[in-house]
Amino acid sequence: MLNVSSGPGLEQVVLEHSDCIVVGAGVIGLACARALAMAGLQTIVLEAESRIGSGVSSRSSEVIHAGLYYAPDSLKARLCVQGRDLLYGYLGERGLPHRRLGKLIVATEPAQEPALTDLRRRGLANGVERLELLDAEQARRLEPALRCHAAIHSPDTGIVDSHALMLSLSGDLQSHDGSIALGSPMQWAARHNGVWELTTGTDQPYRISCDVLVNAAGLSAQRVAATIEGYPKERIPSLRLARGNYFSLTRAAPFARLIYPLPVDGGMGVHLTLDLGGAARFGPDVEWVDRIDFDVDARRAQLFYPSIRAYWPQLPDGALQPAYAGIRPKLSGPGEPPHDFVIDGPGQHGLPGLIQLFGFESPGLTSSLAVGQRVSQQALSL
Ligand SMILES: Cc1cc2nc3c(=O)[nH]c(=O)nc-3n(C[C@H](O)[C@H](O)[C@H](O)COP(=O)(O)OP(=O)(O)OC[C@H]3O[C@@H](n4cnc5c(N)ncnc54)[C@H](O)[C@@H]3O)c2cc1C
Repeated sequence: MLNVSSGPGLEQVVLEHSDCIVVGAGVIGLACARALAMAGLQTIVLEAESRIGSGVSSRSSEVIHAGLYYAPDSLKARLCVQGRDLLYGYLGERGLPHRRLGKLIVATEPAQEPALTDLRRRGLANGVERLELLDAEQARRLEPALRCHAAIHSPDTGIVDSHALMLSLSGDLQSHDGSIALGSPMQWAARHNGVWELTTGTDQPYRISCDVLVNAAGLSAQRVAATIEGYPKERIPSLRLARGNYFSLTRAAPFARLIYPLPVDGGMGVHLTLDLGGAARFGPDVEWVDRIDFDVDARRAQLFYPSIRAYWPQLPDGALQPAYAGIRPKLSGPGEPPHDFVIDGPGQHGLPGLIQLFGFESPGLTSSLAVGQRVSQQALSL
């Protein structure tokens, strides 16, 4: 969680009208606002909570994905590959904490090999380079504790301190005349006389206006869209909540890279990620839920042990402890094909000056800078 108290409060936001208002100060809203401000548009971010990045963005795996998993030509595939390169460039330039550790995706049984080969083919089609197919011996040379039948080595997968990233994005925004109004939920919006008028604030709600409105409210994107007058109800997709629980490892992990099984319905499989301090955690699993609740049920460890032992048989008993959970704002439910990110403009919903985002699950963090670029280009063309 972040502790940003320097952003202006509502009473300090002196603009009555700005070029752009972005709803939501998660990594996506901040990346959009930064890009809009850097394109010369005066931009305000409205954030309901008292801190930036306290929603979905504070509960991820913090992995910079290479871009293998997504349907070729989808927004997820294109924005992930572009975003990954932009992100590595940005993190390097700013000296922000990250590591390009690489990862192995493993087939633990011979029967899984065709799926592994398909995944590599998909990655190559998405423009992910340097994806090497390894046999068990080659994989074990890289990771001696690993048990597998075959693996893909993805050297361009990495990890990032997402909170440092979000602080840096908000710093860029503020140094380009942008501002963040914390504790300022958007409650209603309507188009009047060619501009968007919004109500925000809690105790003493008041109105502000803008030319371009961007809804990047994460898990609340559907709820916020429903408060925008004239937004076509049929273009508000159902929100499917898929909780991802994490367990941390109570000792050092004998791995130098991230280890992923093959993807499962709704997720990437219970994988090993390392944080920048070297601590290991496993997750996220996929638990379909109907309300937002971040408590991790310790009993789910029983499901984690066999999943992890499929690729790390030496995982000791009692080595896992509940860590945290995140909730994916999915647009597809159990057994359904994965849905793409949605970035709708006037051509889709019919409302001028509005950019609406839905379904920013993984790889949203990796894609954030590319999403920002795309949204700012779209805003300039409105
Ligand atoms: C378990 C899990 C693991 C993940 N792992 C990865 C990963 O390893 N790599 C990767 O690339 N991606 C990952 N992701 C995806 C990534 O975390 C998300 O795509 C990204 O954080 C979404 O950011 P956001 O800004 O859209 O949403 P959020 O961070 O939720 O931001 C939305 C903001 O809007 C605010 N808000 C809501 N309603 C209002 C309102 N009415 N007015 C004003 N503000 C409002 C909220 O308070 C919130 O701060 C993961 C996601 C999950 C759930």
